[in-house]
Amino acid sequence: MSLKLGGIRARLWVATALPAMLVIAMLVAGFAFRYGERMADALQDRGVASARQLGSAAEFMVFAGDREGLVRLTEAAVRNDKQLRGVAVYDAQGQLLASAGQLTASPAPQGSLLDVQVADELRIVQPIYPTAGPVDDLYTPTPSAGLAYGPGSRLVGHAVLEMSMETLAQQQKELLLWSLVTAAGGLLLAGGLATLLASRVTAQITLINDVVARVGQGDLDERVDIHRSGVLRPLALGINVMIGRIATTQEELQYRIEQATRELRHQKEVAEQAARTDALTGTATRLAFTEVAEVEMQRALRYRNDLSLLMLDLDHFKGINDQHGHVTGDAVLVNFAQVVQQQIRNMDTLARIGGEEFVVLLPNANVAQAGALAERIRRAVSEARLMVDGKPLRVSVSIGVAQFDWRELSLTRWLARADAALYRAKDQGRNRVVHDATDGAPPEGTEHPPVEG
Ligand code: GH3
Ligand code: MG
Ligand code: MG
Repeated sequence: MSLKLGGIRARLWVATALPAMLVIAMLVAGFAFRYGERMADALQDRGVASARQLGSAAEFMVFAGDREGLVRLTEAAVRNDKQLRGVAVYDAQGQLLASAGQLTASPAPQGSLLDVQVADELRIVQPIYPTAGPVDDLYTPTPSAGLAYGPGSRLVGHAVLEMSMETLAQQQKELLLWSLVTAAGGLLLAGGLATLLASRVTAQITLINDVVARVGQGDLDERVDIHRSGVLRPLALGINVMIGRIATTQEELQYRIEQATRELRHQKEVAEQAARTDALTGTATRLAFTEVAEVEMQRALRYRNDLSLLMLDLDHFKGINDQHGHVTGDAVLVNFAQVVQQQIRNMDTLARIGGEEFVVLLPNANVAQAGALAERIRRAVSEARLMVDGKPLRVSVSIGVAQFDWRELSLTRWLARADAALYRAKDQGRNRVVHDATDGAPPEGTEHPPVEG
């Protein structure tokens, strides 16, 4: 399973860094703007306050025409405030009384209101009115004296004050620089943290992804290292639980498959056994007989052993069925098989190959020995008594005998020879043994005569 980790890392980085960066940029820009504005306002407030102070200090000197005092006052004002570029005091007629510093050439102030102008420099014009000083609290001027207080009273002059905006511009520049540096620092920090976070999370994803890939390849012993999964720990725990369940399920499945396989094998063995054992008589079936016969034929070929075959068919069996019923017929078949089984050797194989047709395979037996055994069987069958409804039931069997001919190499033809001999036994009156009349077999006429039981 391949993950595009580069893409994930980039997206994580953007998701974490971008909001922080936007917030930093907005905060710094907002701060710089607001603070810059405030600096200008503060400068203006200070200018206005200085102008007022100058105005009230100059009031009596203007009134008294004390020019020297005014010069000292204006010089002291300029000297004490570095940002003051120039100061001037005019009388009510607009005539300059005193000035200090460098004032931009400007016409004498008009009007009677505080006038603030901001251009390259801050210019404040403060009208001077007669005011009540601390001593004047006891003195109450009368309008007839021509004196009044405040803007409504008679103007005595103007104080003009100019402040340099350069320092402010310089301070604002510094503020801007500081803001840029701070913002850059903040952005770098946010970017660095985002990179760290992105690569950590990516590493954790890689860890989990590798484990999932190995589990996918069938290694169910794999687990995610919880201590290295960081923020993905809950996911790692969940995946480990899942792998555990898969492993358990697989083990259970494996166990069930093995159990089912064992059961199937057993059933197959049972079925194969059933296919090789005749359900009614318990003898071998045609299938089992064929397998044993093929093996014995090979053995006879290799060691030149004798090998013979009997084909047996109950005489007039249909009549037994018709007369006594199918159940009795079955009992006769079972009984017949038992009688034959008692006569043959352990190495011999009795098989039921048809309704009431049987064969006996006789290893190490030539046709004469097989014929002798066939005769013993024929006699035993004819002497056996099956009690049906309290009466003894007698049956007889006809038998064809054929020895295996190694030149022939065919079970079918060997069986056909035995069948032909059986047919002749039937033809000659039943309850008899007839030998196959081909080469290697005893000559015709050695058939055993029926023996009445
Ligand atoms: P033959 O002497 O010429 O052999 O005469 P037969 O009556 O024995 O031969 P036939 O082939 O005419 O009849 C065989 C009978 O065997 C017919 C069938 O109903 C009966 N049979 C076949 N299989 C079974 C079985 O499993 N149980 C019973 N009870 N009868 C069977
Ligand atoms: Mg038959
Ligand atoms: Mg028959």
